[in-house]
Amino acid sequence: MRLTVLGCAGSFPGPEAPCSAYLIEADGFRLLLDFGPGSMSALQRYGDLYGVDAILLTHLHCDHMLDACTYVVARRYAPAGPFPPLPVYAPVNAPERIAAAYGGENEAISIGEVYTFYALQPGSFPIGPFGVTVDRVNHPIETYGVRLEHNGKVLTYSADTAPCEPLIRLAQGADAFLCEASYLDGVDNPPDLHLTGREAAEHATKAGVGRLLLTHLVPAWGSEALTLEAASSAFAGPIDIVRPGSRYDI
Ligand SMILES: [Zn+2]
Ligand SMILES: [Zn+2]
Repeated sequence: MRLTVLGCAGSFPGPEAPCSAYLIEADGFRLLLDFGPGSMSALQRYGDLYGVDAILLTHLHCDHMLDACTYVVARRYAPAGPFPPLPVYAPVNAPERIAAAYGGENEAISIGEVYTFYALQPGSFPIGPFGVTVDRVNHPIETYGVRLEHNGKVLTYSADTAPCEPLIRLAQGADAFLCEASYLDGVDNPPDLHLTGREAAEHATKAGVGRLLLTHLVPAWGSEALTLEAASSAFAGPIDIVRPGSRYDI
């Protein structure tokens, strides 16, 4: 499978990066993991505006889902459209949240014309050619970490999370572990929200992953150098900080 990073800025867009969105391709099938603000622009730059076969939203914080609202217009009002409903795997209240953010209560029915929603719950299921396993991680709202398997290869995505055991299980033996590292080490961070670079690396080591791909750094007050240094102290394998347009064949 191939991972293309569309956006990776944590919590709000940075000067060079949209918010979280990752395009995963295998066997011609294209799965979009999260769809944060600005990433629809990157989708057109690094992919294809209509080249999405399914969307999985890990949680409904705005930095992970707002372009699922913007995308409604592109699919419904395209000259060659409207396109058939697109499968969206997301927390159970996604239809109401996306409809409200899009335009209000009266738009709820038309959201259903654009997306077919499947409510996430912990477990395993297929999406196209991928074997998908999701589990709840440690974040203030319903949030799912994601394990994708294809042709014997594994990519795990942390979503947003503080330290937790389910993340280690999801990442067990993964070839690539795309993990958030929002916080800097050595400062007094709020509990039960996010990981530091060192914590991300500790999860990677416990899970025995092949490579660690750090994401969701907050450009405005983060530090790539400090995050990388902290992560390197706790994981011996290769570590990258991902950027928009980064591609990884897994
Ligand atoms: Zn986030
Ligand atoms: Zn979040």
